[in-house]
Amino acid sequence: MANSSTSSRGLAGTTLRINLSTGEIKRYPTDEKLMREWFGGRGAIAKILYDEVPRDADPLGPENLFIMSAGVMSGCFIPAGAKIGFGSISPLTNGHGDSNMGGHLGPTLKFAGYDMVIMSGISPKPVYLFIDDDTVELRDASQYWGMGSLACEPAMKKDLGEDFEIATIGPAGENGIRFSCITHDFGRQAGRTGQGAVMGSKKLKAIAIRGTCGINVHNLDKLTEQVTAIIKRTQTHPNMAPWQKYGTAFFIEWSNDNAVIPTRNFQTTYFEDIKGISGDALVERCLITHKACFGCWMNCGKYTKAVLPGKETVYLEGPEYETGALCGSNLGMTDINQVAYLNWLMDNVGMDTMSGGGVVAFAMECFQRGLITTDDLEGHTLNWGSVEDTEHFVDMVVHRRGIGEYFAGGTKRAAEKIGRGSEKFAMQVKGQEMSGYDGRYAPGMLLSYMTCDIGAHHNRSWTITVDMAEGRDKVEGRAKVVVYLQHIRPLFDCWCICRLFWGELDIEPEEIVESLNLITGWNIDAAEAFKTSEKIWNLVRCHYLERNKANGRTFDYPPARSWEDKIPTGPSAGKGLTKEQIETMLDEYYACRGWDNDGNPSREVLHDLKLDFAADNIEKIGLLGKPLPNGIPAVRGERYKPKAF
Ligand code: SF4
Repeated sequence: MANSSTSSRGLAGTTLRINLSTGEIKRYPTDEKLMREWFGGRGAIAKILYDEVPRDADPLGPENLFIMSAGVMSGCFIPAGAKIGFGSISPLTNGHGDSNMGGHLGPTLKFAGYDMVIMSGISPKPVYLFIDDDTVELRDASQYWGMGSLACEPAMKKDLGEDFEIATIGPAGENGIRFSCITHDFGRQAGRTGQGAVMGSKKLKAIAIRGTCGINVHNLDKLTEQVTAIIKRTQTHPNMAPWQKYGTAFFIEWSNDNAVIPTRNFQTTYFEDIKGISGDALVERCLITHKACFGCWMNCGKYTKAVLPGKETVYLEGPEYETGALCGSNLGMTDINQVAYLNWLMDNVGMDTMSGGGVVAFAMECFQRGLITTDDLEGHTLNWGSVEDTEHFVDMVVHRRGIGEYFAGGTKRAAEKIGRGSEKFAMQVKGQEMSGYDGRYAPGMLLSYMTCDIGAHHNRSWTITVDMAEGRDKVEGRAKVVVYLQHIRPLFDCWCICRLFWGELDIEPEEIVESLNLITGWNIDAAEAFKTSEKIWNLVRCHYLERNKANGRTFDYPPARSWEDKIPTGPSAGKGLTKEQIETMLDEYYACRGWDNDGNPSREVLHDLKLDFAADNIEKIGLLGKPLPNGIPAVRGERYKPKAF
């Protein structure tokens, strides 16, 4: 069997390289040095993309790579070791992109004997990647091409067997919509940065894996002891019961109560009809049963149905918080069945519900302001709260009809085409649409969006509770917490374990690193883990500068609504940040990272992180940070333990 022996524990042992243009499939021993120095998952993906993709490569062209990596902890004998990471140059941001998903695909890839699959080129015809332990083939996918993601997965299982784990793209990915996602397990998505569009550009419709081997770990006895203690302790953690009952939809009302929920394209932060789309509404009106990923009993997944008059009843997983906010209040939807229906619609066409919700909301505000009209919409309207209007508009986008072509590239590209002041309310940073929190009166969250390495995404540093706890008028000091969170949270994406379980149940970093050591036989401490994460962050920043060729600060601003429009309604009416406050946060952030005030990493910090090669590269294009008068800070980021909410 493929994974019968490997010296580094936690790994399956083999990496696949597949040239989709020629159909050539090669096997290599997994590069253990790469896994150790870059922690697998997101880190290994970042290093390979940096080393191998030409700086001028088109994200949707043959030179871009499409990588999946299951890291060193996925599939091991631990709770929620369920993740798999995908990465490529993002067609949405034109920088490093990565996204991950739960379910069962990551563990199964390793059970089949593989840690990583690196794909290049473009297939001459639609194919799917078939992995059945030692058998690895590219198979004809013409019978599946054009199918929705949620329809394709059961069709493939019917053809191949229920014990195959399947990941697919939908028509959005096939048509190169830049915010397309990858779907697996009927509702787990790698949603952000347009990984589905990269799959589509490579004519790769799906991935089907069956694996029957196990993963060796370094010290099973001690790992069992440690995991048993974690299991016992987390059972009674106060966050466990709400996650189990509602999933992250638990936060919908919390966000509204705290006036941070994006409403009608972030025009305001308080939604008067919140009860209709809340976690309670989900459980009472849509829930069929709870659902969990591999090795997890937190079962935050909600298997649901959406029942709307005049529409066929549809079945889905969700909506979780982000979809509830971005396809709910942000579109003016007042009924959870509407939100669930749009969740299903976007999942099936293969569109990230977060960017998808952001794009539709932006278009709705353009319609509200008369910047697009029924003439642009094939005679349809695009009104807040209308499922019919949304469904028609999504169809225009997915099939790039008429003005749908503008929106196929996301809000930033659409605003560039529409103009007339629309850039101000295109709610994105670096081309990626904002997550489901309005940062106008949540400064840490806004800074998180601004500085996130993959564009405006909450997951790298979820700072909203910090804002609530530390004061929403205060911007000073927020940067060091954002930097700390940007180091700890991406570690879960490196090791391919679930952040919700390992990050939100008070499992300390030292304990997580102990599990890592017991699995791998490494001997690292939390300080080394943070420093490696910082190294990955800086490499990704250099990569972004090298591809986009301007000072980093240029790309770190949110749209002007973030400082020009005070919040108009709700408990935070009249509140908002000034441009000066935003500049202060950026100044502090760069200083904290050891970057110069243009947002470019200094040689000192890159040397400290053993990234001299990246310093040389950004120096060649004139983007190496200026020397720092007082040298780099000894500690970048300040450890922060969020208070309970
Ligand atoms: Fe999956 Fe939720 Fe468990 Fe995480 S907490 S592994 S997302 S079920």
